Amino acid sequence: MVRSLDDRRAVSVAWPLYAGGMTTKGTDSTIAAPVLKTLSPSRASDFKTCPQLYKFKSIDKIPTEPTVFQARGTTAHLALERLFQLPRDQRTPEQLYGLFRMAWTELKVDEYPDLFASVDDERAWGIESLNLLASYFTVEDPSSFEPLELEMDLTVDVNDMTIRGILDRMEEITETGPDGVERELLVITDYKTGKAPPERYANKAFFALKIYALLIRITKGITPDRVRLLYLNGPTEYTMDVTSGQLDAMERQLEALWSAIERAITRDNWPATTSALCDWCDFKADLCPAWNTDEADKADGAGTGKSPEVAVEETPSATPGASTE
Ligand code: SF4
Repeated sequence: MVRSLDDRRAVSVAWPLYAGGMTTKGTDSTIAAPVLKTLSPSRASDFKTCPQLYKFKSIDKIPTEPTVFQARGTTAHLALERLFQLPRDQRTPEQLYGLFRMAWTELKVDEYPDLFASVDDERAWGIESLNLLASYFTVEDPSSFEPLELEMDLTVDVNDMTIRGILDRMEEITETGPDGVERELLVITDYKTGKAPPERYANKAFFALKIYALLIRITKGITPDRVRLLYLNGPTEYTMDVTSGQLDAMERQLEALWSAIERAITRDNWPATTSALCDWCDFKADLCPAWNTDEADKADGAGTGKSPEVAVEETPSATPGASTE
């Protein structure tokens, strides 16, 4: 597969030997086992959702076909990054459309050369993409503020872990509180070009962003006040105010997740945790043991799993203050 934006953002697992190697089930040979070296927020989210999905992507590194949705996401992110590099008075819809076209011209050569069967298909995709970008301007005015950070590369040691990811944007906003007093808020924003989940599932979608908030706290010594998911499709905006206590809980949750991934690697145990997300999973049709189990698989112990071996600690008071526009 041509790498998705997330895939370009971190390498989750490297392959040096454990000291002395390990013996795998069903063989007598001593082979190399992967060692978890770094973890990205998106891969952490994969494991939390379904350990088998994490294995397919991060251990087996199974290539999948690029999709028009990935291409749109990658191109839109690049165009939006470049929009904020322009002087404020030039951050117009027309500029963004031009930046999208330019970004696509660059990306399609190397990353998506055979994505469309015809020029008409590509044109229809382009028009749909520009409509999506037009809706961005109904959510915010990019000329009204200056981001503090764009595409911020964060590689952070958290206790014994190394977490790496790239944050779309960080900015400071001024807001009038319920007491009528104005206050400055540090906000981190993640763009999404897919469809927004129903509000009742939005809390899950904040998982990766709360990790980013933790990384900001560690690297900058300041705690973001708010995390924000900006779905251009809709558009829909979900926000959640965060506290130091929530980020403390996230740090503990990350430690538990890291340990669980290491245990999964050592035991070669990757439960396939089915959910509504399976319908969007690249591996459902052919590879996932939960959906392709036959008698041989059962004999080998493959099949569905209920939950990852992680003492997942739910972040308290995490109900998003979501607003949908
Ligand atoms: S289809 Fe579902 S259970 Fe299987 S790997 Fe994908 S997310 Fe996991």
